[in-house]
Amino acid sequence: VTYTGIHSRGKGYGSTGTIAVLQDVTGQEKLEQSRREFVANVSHELRTPLTTIKSYLEALEDGALEEPQLASKFVNVARNETERMIRLVTDLLQLSRLDSKQATLHKEPTDVVEMLEEVADRFSFQLEQRSIAIDIDVAPGVMYIMLDRDRIDQVLDNLVSNAIKYTPEGGHIRIIAGRPDPQQLEICVQDNGIGIPRKDLNRIFERFYRVDKARSRSMGGTGLGLSIAREIVKAHGGTIHLDSEFGQGTRVTFTLPYQQEEAAV
Ligand code: ADP
Repeated sequence: VTYTGIHSRGKGYGSTGTIAVLQDVTGQEKLEQSRREFVANVSHELRTPLTTIKSYLEALEDGALEEPQLASKFVNVARNETERMIRLVTDLLQLSRLDSKQATLHKEPTDVVEMLEEVADRFSFQLEQRSIAIDIDVAPGVMYIMLDRDRIDQVLDNLVSNAIKYTPEGGHIRIIAGRPDPQQLEICVQDNGIGIPRKDLNRIFERFYRVDKARSRSMGGTGLGLSIAREIVKAHGGTIHLDSEFGQGTRVTFTLPYQQEEAAV
């Protein structure tokens, strides 16, 4: 906060006055800086796949087209990079809607057990491919809750896909739902994967923040999954946090409030 004192002397009347202008400059500067960083990040994240696509197209033009096997490999790379860009732009659009509060929630009564089983089903192929086991553990008091199903599915998908991405073959994922008090549903997604170093923990929900950029990219990540999850949970009036032990595993826990009448059940 800066303090600007303006000393003024009234003309002819001999009066003296002081106007104090208080401005939160540090806050404004921080916001401006984080905006600049965000734009730089977006540009970089889009430029990387575009550069790759360009070089593969040039290679095709320079003769790779004549070699069908090589050509199909190059086209495949270009398609994968295009898909990454689409994912990135979709994620960015969603974040921008959540930021501008344009995103209205369409809440509906949702069966928690069914919702969690469906998440596991969506990932069954990937889980099997990487020999990762998944358990779902729901406490008895957990039943229906009002939530925006599409959006909470996205939170769960982001968390489970992270758990799969950052857990070596043969690992184990658990989804645990409980009701620590009548007002709240708590859902944990827990893995026994690579974990996150302590020094990175407090920045992990920042947009584009990744512990290992190369690994995240090669896994198809955009660096926006946790930020989106946090915004969606916040829009529902809930909280989200992450605990992790480097080399041991990670647990992300989020809560969602039950409506008053549900809490009475
Ligand atoms: P990404 O698309 O890179 O996965 P996220 O926002 O979902 O982006 O996650 C940010 C970073 O947090 C990841 O790049 C990764 O370094 C770390 N991370 C997230 N979930 C896990 C997890 N379950 N285990 C280990 N690291 C994780």
